[in-house]
This record gives sequence, structure tokens and C-alpha cells, in this order.
Amino acid sequence: MGGTQHLRSDRVSVPLQPGRFFLPGPTEVHPDVLAAQTGPMIGHRGEAIQDLMARIDAGLKPLFLTERPVFVSTSSASGLMEAAVRNGVTGGRVLSLVNGGFSGRFAEIARTCGFEVDALTIPWGDVHPPDQVADRLGAGGYDAVTLSQSETSTGALQDLEAIASVVGEREETLLLVDSVTGVPGLETKTDEWELDFILTGSQKALALPPGLAFGVASDEMMDRSKDAPDRGWYFALDRLMSELVRNQTPATPAVSLLYALDVQLFRIAEEGIENRWQRHLAMQERTIEWIEEMKEAGVGIDALAVEGHRSPTVTAVSMPEGDGASATVAEMADRGWVIGGGYGKLTESTIRIGHMGDHTVDELNLLLMELGDVLVS
Ligand SMILES: *Cc1c(COP(=O)(O)O)cnc(C)c1O
Repeated sequence: MGGTQHLRSDRVSVPLQPGRFFLPGPTEVHPDVLAAQTGPMIGHRGEAIQDLMARIDAGLKPLFLTERPVFVSTSSASGLMEAAVRNGVTGGRVLSLVNGGFSGRFAEIARTCGFEVDALTIPWGDVHPPDQVADRLGAGGYDAVTLSQSETSTGALQDLEAIASVVGEREETLLLVDSVTGVPGLETKTDEWELDFILTGSQKALALPPGLAFGVASDEMMDRSKDAPDRGWYFALDRLMSELVRNQTPATPAVSLLYALDVQLFRIAEEGIENRWQRHLAMQERTIEWIEEMKEAGVGIDALAVEGHRSPTVTAVSMPEGDGASATVAEMADRGWVIGGGYGKLTESTIRIGHMGDHTVDELNLLLMELGDVLVS
């Protein structure tokens, strides 16, 4: 049935109309992008794939504000988080900045890959003061720092530029950035801020189906990679790069997803990347404004992330009395809307609104009206 999805909660099944899917990943995908996946197969060697990959590389560079080649990985974003530590850590320790579920996962990935990890853990919703990071790095011996630029579990936005500047003072330390709900939802200056590795996923602000991840590595990261004994095969950046420069991949890529990406990059270029960033900021502002309106109306909600450090792509809303999140999500589902529940230890105390991808302020306003109605009733 022409693009009509059906949403099932455990109680009812209602048609899910376009503009109503506000999960903080995966996000709603435009019908043209979905349809692109039905194109015929091509081989993963030769001119057809090389043309496609060259066009994709040109389309991805402005999203990261980089002149460097952009890795396209057939994996979810967590795959490139693993690639980051496997290639960026040789003998030294990892300093993981942890302020939520995904930055915690980054630490966990490094640990399970066998590296020695020091977690600098702060309350969920907060961000790391750059001075604090500088102090910890002062001890020396760190191969890498990991962080999540936009912590999707809390909606907190790290000051990436300032942290990059602090890490940049330590020659031996690389900065590995999970920007899964960052790029391309907010301006992130990969080259200017000298980020050593930055990665994002297909199913968040890019508004593609899940299954692809994208990354950019600095020269220092590429050098480190060549000596990294634990980089393995699939995620070895030197191997990926030797094919990437020929617009190919070492293993078979998800060709159908590349078709979708190709169309979406065209759509993003049509909108203009600056306009995309602006649209995300406008959606965040509207969400925060709505929270204030609700508070004035006596509803005890709040934005979880500290003021001044909130992500333009996702807002975690703390529930009145810290409870009732899953009932709210279910009530919204019954009305034909999808929002996110709380993540990890915040399951019942927060709901999350993914205001990212191709959504507009108008669509968001309709969501917030419905959500406000649920919260007051
Ligand atoms: C979604 C998300 C991830 C994990 O991405 P997958 O594609 O599910 O592996 C990691 N970090 C952040 C900040 C995310 O939002």
C-alpha cells in the first residue's frame, strides 16, 4: 500500500502517517529514498560502483566539512566506534568521557576490545568541562580520548571544539568522536578542529535506513592505524583507505543502501547543508520553548541536558515525578505517533524526541501539540 506504514503497539494497530515518526534513531525516511533501494544490483568492482562511490564521496565531504576521503562502512555506527579504538589505540590507555548511554558504550567497546580504559564519568545530562579533560590528560600515557558529541540518551551536546583543542595539545593522544546524532544535523568542523576520527550513522540525522556508517580519519589516525596490532581485517583503516581512494571497498558493500544514500545526498545538497543545520536548531529551539510553555501550564517536565549544552537533534524530556515515560510513549503510539522512551537507567524517567533528519518545525509542532495533550490528561 503506497508507502503507508502500520504502527503496532501492544494494544492497537493504527496507520502511521508521514511526519509522525520521531524516534531518536532510526528516523523517518523519505519515500524517494526508500524507493531508491529497489534499483538493480551492480557488481562491487568496476565503473558503475566507482561512479556511484565517487558521487557519494563528493556528497559526504561537505557534511563533515572535510577535504579528506569519507569511509563508507557496511555496518551500524557501533562498527565504526570499534574501528576507532582498534585503529587508534596501540599500547597506551584510553580516556573515555562518559556522560550517558552511548559514550558509555564507547568505553565498553574499547574495554571489550582488550584496551585499558579510564572512564571520566559525570552525571547523565552534563557535559565535560574541557579543563577537566586537560587535567586528566596531564597524567600522560593516553593513546586516545573517546566521546559522544551528541549524547542521544540525554540530549547533551559536548563542546567538541574546545575539547578538540585541549586534546590537540597532547601529541600522543588522538580524539575519537562518536557523532552519530551530530553530523549532518549540526555544523561540525572536522578539518578545522583537527578531529582524528569522527563517525556517524545512516539512520539518525542523515535520515536513511540503518546499515551504513561513515567516518573521516586524520593523517595521524592513518599513521597510527598502520601500527595498530588489534585493528583486525574488516575495520582496518589502511585496508579500507587503499580501496577508498579507488572508489571501492574491500568487501561487498550494501549496494541498495548506497542507492538510497546517493538520492539522500542529492536531497541534502538541494536543501543546502547550512539550511539543514539551521532547521535542526529551529526544531531544538521550538522543543525547548514548548517545554517552557508546559512548565508554565503546571506540567512538571524539563529538558534533562544542562542549559547551553543541548543537542539540536534530540531532546530528552524528564517526566513529572521522574516516572511514567513508557505509558506516555504507549499513549502517543495509540494516537499514531512515535517518540522514544528513556534510554538505559532513564527508561521511566525520560521520554526522548528525535527532532532530526528530514523533519520540519511544522511537523514537530503537531507532535508537540499531541504530546502536550497526553501530558496534561
Ligand atoms: C545510535 C547511536 C549509536 C549506535 O549506533 P548504531 O548504528 O545502532 O550502532 C552510537 N552513538 C550514538 C550517539 C547514537 O545515537
